[in-house]
Amino acid sequence: SSKVWVLGDGQLGAMLAHAGKPLALDVRPIDIMQPTDEQLPLATDDIITAEREQWPESALSLQLSTHHNFINGPVFGRLADRFTQKSLLDQLQVATAPWELVDNYSTSAALHAHYGARVLLKRRTGGYDGRGQYWLKQSENTAIPDDWRNFAIAEQAIDFDEEVSLVGARAQDGKCYFYPLTLNLHQDGILMASIAPLARLAPLQSQAEQMLSTIMQGLDYVGVMAMECFRLGDKLLVNELAPRVHNSGHWTQAGCHIDQFQLHLRALCNLPMHRPQVNFQCVMINLIGIDRDDRWLSLPNAELFWYNKEVRPGRKVGHLNLSVHHRVQLSDSIQQLKVWMPQQYQAPLEWVMAEFF
Ligand code: ATP
Ligand code: MG
Ligand code: MG
Repeated sequence: SSKVWVLGDGQLGAMLAHAGKPLALDVRPIDIMQPTDEQLPLATDDIITAEREQWPESALSLQLSTHHNFINGPVFGRLADRFTQKSLLDQLQVATAPWELVDNYSTSAALHAHYGARVLLKRRTGGYDGRGQYWLKQSENTAIPDDWRNFAIAEQAIDFDEEVSLVGARAQDGKCYFYPLTLNLHQDGILMASIAPLARLAPLQSQAEQMLSTIMQGLDYVGVMAMECFRLGDKLLVNELAPRVHNSGHWTQAGCHIDQFQLHLRALCNLPMHRPQVNFQCVMINLIGIDRDDRWLSLPNAELFWYNKEVRPGRKVGHLNLSVHHRVQLSDSIQQLKVWMPQQYQAPLEWVMAEFF
């Protein structure tokens, strides 16, 4: 029977393969970072997806990306470049942080005149986990780095109340399905923790769904897409889009009857789709640059996903999903993690506690 091939073999590819098992879907993540002349035994009715926005061109990646069932093919390049991604949001009239292209004529003076004393430069391509960002500060007379011209956009610094994201999927018949909004905490540009669902975010749900529907319809997209937003009062501004399963949707593995990985596979394979039922409220803690600690498994409400990657500073090496059955159990688990985890986790764990107590 047909296979689902995934461009990329990181943790997202592995979790897609894992999610395919109960449906007996044969999901094959492929490492496309090492150049190779190897060819894959692709069949005409196989389906191709990606777990990343960008990949180096090679005989192998071309074999996958030129297959007629490479779903959302043209979308990846368009969203991988912040210039074309932000242009799309403007064109669809979806609210996003004010921005412009940094070109040969840009000056810091003009950027400060347009956006204020702090302006965030972001590389057009390749940035993730906050890499590829550069703050222009009027007070420090920061200059635009020469090699960022034409390769970056400038964004207004948004004084947001908090960050939320919406993960949704569009089926082949054009219907869209959404998870509840997720509350996210980033530290130094990296996602540290998420909480979902939250009753206090419910009033924003339809606004968020309309925004992501507009985007997915506008792109004729199929599968899971994530929309990261800033919340300012009762308004959402899109920060960025990811045409794939997303870290802020990992809580759905513990919390929902169909997780984001299975929802993506169902959409790709044209299987029945539903609005996912939420079984539990969840807290997701990202494991970043820390060694595995089997004591985590002693927490009664924890599920560990360990990616089996070499541990390096700032690198995502796993996540913990904590299901929230009652507040005392959650509080005990968070307090225990505070004892076991290093300094950079104290603030995120406090942030989780503050949401519940
Ligand atoms: P990701 O790993 O999510 O792909 P990234 O490197 O692509 O991250 P962004 O999501 O654009 O980068 O930014 C990372 C974080 O930096 C955001 O989640 C937010 O906390 C902060 N940030 C980004 N843009 C702005 C902005 N315009 N104003 C204020 N903070 C911002
Ligand atoms: Mg990004
Ligand atoms: Mg982001």
